[in-house]
Amino acid sequence: MPVDGRSLLERLAELPRGQAVLVAAEDVPGVHMVGGAVRDLALGLVPHEIDLVVEGDPDPLLAALGGADVEHERFGTATVDGVDVVRARAEEYSQPGALPDVRPGDIDADLRRRDFTVNAIAVALADAAVHAVAHAGEDLDSRVLRVLHDRSFRDDPTRLWRLARYAVRLGFTIEEETRRLAGEAVAAGAPGNVSGVRLGNELRLALREPDPVATLREAAALGLLPAGFEPTRPDEALALLPPGEGRRDLIILAASCAGMDARALLAWLDHMGFVATERDLVAAASRFVIGSPLRAARTPSEIARAARGAPIEAVVLAGGDNARRWIDELRHVALHINGDDLLAAGVPQGPEIGERLRRALERVLDGEIAHSRDAELAAALE
Ligand code: ATP
Repeated sequence: MPVDGRSLLERLAELPRGQAVLVAAEDVPGVHMVGGAVRDLALGLVPHEIDLVVEGDPDPLLAALGGADVEHERFGTATVDGVDVVRARAEEYSQPGALPDVRPGDIDADLRRRDFTVNAIAVALADAAVHAVAHAGEDLDSRVLRVLHDRSFRDDPTRLWRLARYAVRLGFTIEEETRRLAGEAVAAGAPGNVSGVRLGNELRLALREPDPVATLREAAALGLLPAGFEPTRPDEALALLPPGEGRRDLIILAASCAGMDARALLAWLDHMGFVATERDLVAAASRFVIGSPLRAARTPSEIARAARGAPIEAVVLAGGDNARRWIDELRHVALHINGDDLLAAGVPQGPEIGERLRRALERVLDGEIAHSRDAELAAALE
């Protein structure tokens, strides 16, 4: 069925900012709704933002939307309250994987630079006229992802990740030729032409998808993940994670990295632009998946020794009764005494203080002494 611009504008009007957008566009020529907003509205979904393209200067539209002061580069997207505004542009890739040369263009040129046909449909806000690349309407109807031309993945290999994300999120099929071109681009090493940070951003977006594990599986099937990476759904770990604590995305990543060589894992996480704290967390947590000392611990003090200092993400990935006991009970046990009490009792300043406190706590945990100030002090001074 051809895309019906009128009904898309009616659906736009029903969105929280929809009316405001239609009113703002009344005095600005050349405003189009595009991309994910058109795609999602056509599919009966609620887009998470309204994407607008303006043929010409976007500032009057931004001002009409109440975002006159919003910062944007020449073509950069400016966002006002969930509305994305960008100037229509044409793009050319001088080198595969490099950022494109960009110049102002009309809406049709703007659609031609896009990733997949279903994302390359525009509706003019003034008269509901529809602009679309070839196959866009039929691909939307038959729920198919298709690139616009043969060089698409080589020009911009981040589109390989976008392909995996859309395929899973929308439940769309990857058109046969598009899958072949993706395979060809990966085999030719196209992802190597893009900075690790840009690929890492795509991986981070994949981890935030509604079904991140299925998205990782699709990405793995496309050849986008390193050797030993095995997309894994860590259901037990996620169920163990206390509400409000830890990072679910990093737990999924760590679970999926458990089979990777430790050095290769660190190098890959660095390359993908994870900051040191995230990198170390994922690396540590991934080592807890198999054969963790936490799982092997037999007494409360052994559990505490294995779990203390480990991130919560690692503890839940180790799983089992010990992890549960640490989370629910043992990690909350604290001594009534502290270092000052030992100093006052004559223990010299230094590492011995911490050592004595740790031993006293272990004896409390194992039930060898009472959980009381006197018993703890006596044990710590033994
Ligand atoms: P969502 O935000 O729901 O993931 P979206 O389609 O809105 O989906 P955005 O990343 O917000 O995705 O991009 C908006 C539009 O810009 C896309 O629909 C697509 O047309 C275009 N686009 C984004 N990234 C690329 C790219 N790497 N190559 C070509 N076109 C792109």
